[in-house]
Amino acid sequence: MRINCLACGHKVDLDDAYDDYEGPVKCFACRAILEIRTEQGSIKAVKQVNSIQHRSAEEVFERVLNPMNATAQGAGTAGPRRIG
Ligand SMILES: [Zn+2]
Repeated sequence: MRINCLACGHKVDLDDAYDDYEGPVKCFACRAILEIRTEQGSIKAVKQVNSIQHRSAEEVFERVLNPMNATAQGAGTAGPRRIG
């Protein structure tokens, strides 16, 4: 079964596990989250979800990339790591 990604038009391949499925599916091409509903191998509904999870993941990633932020939030945790 295939669904067209609403964001980029890529045909997302879904295997038999998605014949009766309701929930999010990720487009491999553009990483958009599509919420789909299928019954008995046919698609009932497809809609694009605002990727809140993606945004929060980016925030975490940004915090890792910018140690300044981590230092400001928790003094002492960013010190040199003790080994042994
Ligand atoms: Zn896409």
